[in-house]
Amino acid sequence: MCEFCHKHGEGKKWYLQAKNYSEDLLSDLRRRKFIADFFLHPEDTAKEVAKLERLDRAPAFVRSVLTPYMSNRQKKVHFGQVLPIEDVERIFGFVSSIVRVACLCRQITVGTEQRYCYAVSMAPQGGKFEQIIREIDAGYLTGPDTAGLETLSKDEALASLREHEKDGLCHTVWTFITPFIGGICNCDRSDCFAMRCTVTYRMPVMFRAEYVAEVNPELCNGCRQCMRVCQFGAIGYSAANKKVVIDPRRCYGCGVCRASCTKDAIALQDRSAVPVAAAIW
Ligand code: SF4
Ligand code: SF4
Repeated sequence: MCEFCHKHGEGKKWYLQAKNYSEDLLSDLRRRKFIADFFLHPEDTAKEVAKLERLDRAPAFVRSVLTPYMSNRQKKVHFGQVLPIEDVERIFGFVSSIVRVACLCRQITVGTEQRYCYAVSMAPQGGKFEQIIREIDAGYLTGPDTAGLETLSKDEALASLREHEKDGLCHTVWTFITPFIGGICNCDRSDCFAMRCTVTYRMPVMFRAEYVAEVNPELCNGCRQCMRVCQFGAIGYSAANKKVVIDPRRCYGCGVCRASCTKDAIALQDRSAVPVAAAIW
């Protein structure tokens, strides 16, 4: 179990606890303002990322002091954790509203509206959270979101996420002033600020899944398709064995490699059951 499960999940998976999606948490005006500012002022996020780029080039002692400070600060307000599709399905099983919205990161990096994020809520018809998102949507980023919000059924949302997975995108769950959970994103290293901060700039704001992938060498034919989709460089190829191997210390447990394997050679197992990875988040 990660630190978030201990702090926000009473020892169970914190993102499967319905109370973390509750309307009660949304009655906090500070949180409502945070959500609105987050979406309406993407330039602030871009500035933070620029600071991290500078920090990445700073002397080691500066990094060693500032990195844990900034990462801990982020854990309190807006952090993400990687999820395999089966845990996304569990979340979709108990939320009452799923709305597809434009991705803030891609609006900045690609410059156009790209719908890769799914706001979720426990309240009927989305409650206050959907109302906040609708208000934001009316003046979103470069102007009104002309396509409007899309309300999806659980099956529609899951089908859409499976398509993202085929494109190699990794599912993540996000807080808006922790522990309130606002939605599920679908990330890649080139467009997602959080993944870039975490993997490229070594500033953890997006944490590993409760799982680690493992290859069954009896089933693997060495096609290397899984290597092409792993965004974390966790898969190596043994020319001698003509099979791949997954380094559990690098694996984020997203399961994207599993979706790409036509031989069903990859499975996820609990991180806690893999001693070398159990304490790596
Ligand atoms: S995609 Fe499957 S069969 Fe191909 S190398 Fe990876 S694990 Fe082996
Ligand atoms: S090896 Fe790990 S990190 Fe890489 S795609 Fe597979 S589950 Fe994700």
